[in-house]
Amino acid sequence: MNQSPHTNHEKTTWTIKDSAELYGLERWGDNYFSINDAGNINVNPQGSKENSLDLTHLLDELKDRNLTPPLLLRFDDILEDRLKKLHHAFEDAIHKYDYKNRYQGVFPIKCNQQRHVIEEIIAIGKQWNFGLEAGSKAELLIALSMIDNPEALIICNGYKDNRYIETSILARQLKKKPIVVIEQLNEVQGIISASKHLNAAPLIGIRAKLSSQSSGKWEASTGDKSKFGLSIPEILHAVNLLKDSGLLDELILLHFHLGSQINDISVLKNALQEAGQIYIELKRLGAPMGYLDVGGGLGIDYDGSRTATAASTNYSLQNYANDVVATIQECCKTNQIEVPRLITESGRNICSHFSILIFNILGTSSVPIDIPKRTNNEYLIVENLRDTLNALDDICAKSKLDVSKLQEAWNDALKFKEDALAAFRLGFIDLTTRATAEQLTWACAKKITSNLSNTTLIPEELKALNSALAATYYANISIFRSAPDTWAINQLFPIMPIHRLNERPCKLGHFADLTCDSDGKFTQFINNGNIKNLLELHEMKPGKNYWVGMFLGGAYQEIMGNLHNLFGSTNAIHIRLTQKGRYKLKHVVKGNTKRDVLHAVEYNSEQLLEKLRIATESAIQHKTLNINDAQRFIEHIEISLRKSTYLQE
Ligand SMILES: *Cc1c(COP(=O)(O)O)cnc(C)c1O
Repeated sequence: MNQSPHTNHEKTTWTIKDSAELYGLERWGDNYFSINDAGNINVNPQGSKENSLDLTHLLDELKDRNLTPPLLLRFDDILEDRLKKLHHAFEDAIHKYDYKNRYQGVFPIKCNQQRHVIEEIIAIGKQWNFGLEAGSKAELLIALSMIDNPEALIICNGYKDNRYIETSILARQLKKKPIVVIEQLNEVQGIISASKHLNAAPLIGIRAKLSSQSSGKWEASTGDKSKFGLSIPEILHAVNLLKDSGLLDELILLHFHLGSQINDISVLKNALQEAGQIYIELKRLGAPMGYLDVGGGLGIDYDGSRTATAASTNYSLQNYANDVVATIQECCKTNQIEVPRLITESGRNICSHFSILIFNILGTSSVPIDIPKRTNNEYLIVENLRDTLNALDDICAKSKLDVSKLQEAWNDALKFKEDALAAFRLGFIDLTTRATAEQLTWACAKKITSNLSNTTLIPEELKALNSALAATYYANISIFRSAPDTWAINQLFPIMPIHRLNERPCKLGHFADLTCDSDGKFTQFINNGNIKNLLELHEMKPGKNYWVGMFLGGAYQEIMGNLHNLFGSTNAIHIRLTQKGRYKLKHVVKGNTKRDVLHAVEYNSEQLLEKLRIATESAIQHKTLNINDAQRFIEHIEISLRKSTYLQE
């Protein structure tokens, strides 16, 4: 596929519709985002354009409050809408299939542990008794302390030691509803002895290791070899142990989790059938049961292609809810068993959309393509390159483009460029001549790429020219901090400029971040089911901001992000829309200062400052620094320690 936006049949106008199509906004945005007539992205939290906010205006006003990119914008209205959509989907499915029980979900804390996020989810979710899932002892502390609704479930997953188990047992007496999910056989023994010791029992669940295997990036987290859950013989063993110690009456839940981002719905159906049968068997073995927890994995269509590929899903939220309800209904009906209350632990699907990472571009670099002026007595190498460029003009002027001739000319250009390099190494040509030769080579490349989109059969070598000519956009972020999954697991997120969308993006580029790490870059972009390595972007305007948004990154990125190169967290802002186009900043969560990141690696910033102050005094003594400059230096350091780790305007 040819990516060049330059065609010989360029439409003369470029509209916001063209931008929406190019970046796939309507395919992945779930109606939360649109482009307004000014060419800016609007955020529409309820999916309606009535109540929407112009992101660019918001950024201008944030700037007036001294809050500048990089920024993480969290739209709590979107979070609310996600929760509503999830519940409505299950309510609809339950109604449709006349399912005689309810849906009662939990949020997996590991997806986004931020207090403001958890508080918001609990407050919004209260109407449905929405609960939390904890996967570690620290997350358990969050769940136990933040939930005060006695009906909301607290699903206790993860490996457990004695203290974890005892804490859950005791919390049950605080009018909380923790369910301890057995992940490993040895936890059964732990539960039994803790119950004896405390003379009280926990609510118990069992996590099954299903044979049904998921596909995609998280394939290995399911199936017989997965690291989590009990195999069928282990489940039977656990049931016997619980029975022998009089705890079987507390076994109320069966849990499974297929792994994150299930992209193929048929995988889920198999798993549901398998889990449904296990549920029925557990009931037959004498456990009261009552709850079936289908885990997380509800996917996100990152590229909007609606396919079973890694960055997409071949099902909708409603398909998912329908399948869960219908499959379990069917299972139970055949076996004349009461249907269980249904639990999901969807994380990614709830909290991906609501946060947008905005970063500014510090500058761009690209290969120089202007044609250098002819001088007297040019070297033969340079003359050869000029001839090649002229020949290209002729080839391109023909009504039918001869690709093999383009290829020939390009091979010539490359040969002359190599000659120039060899001549430079031997001292035959000077730096200016070498520069001229390189510029002419790139001018040839540019000439070729701008004429390519007319032909269908393009040789690979020529296709590669686009990326050779691409511009690097320097982004004021660290991907290790703000988008670690793009680096660690090749996760794709939609990335696009948030303004100037009524202008044709005439450049192709990729992003390089601030870290001194060659992996610190975005070079993979969504392309409706495929991946492209270059993104269509605008030419920077001198003195003007160019703002780019990374979307759908609200899940996992913040906590997985690290301090590589000591870039810390960005400021994060919680926004609620009020009336028409107005908004309120609910919380401003300050990002890490340099003092914070230095502290994280055991430096005391007061001591650092004092060392530098002493150094200035000695320089003053030696008259290499005057007092005014010493003062200026110290002030820079003092202010810098208090400020963000990112570049400032
Ligand atoms: C990670 C995890 C989840 C959340 O998965 P998503 O793909 O974000 O929905 C749910 N349950 C368990 C047990 C998990 O480990």
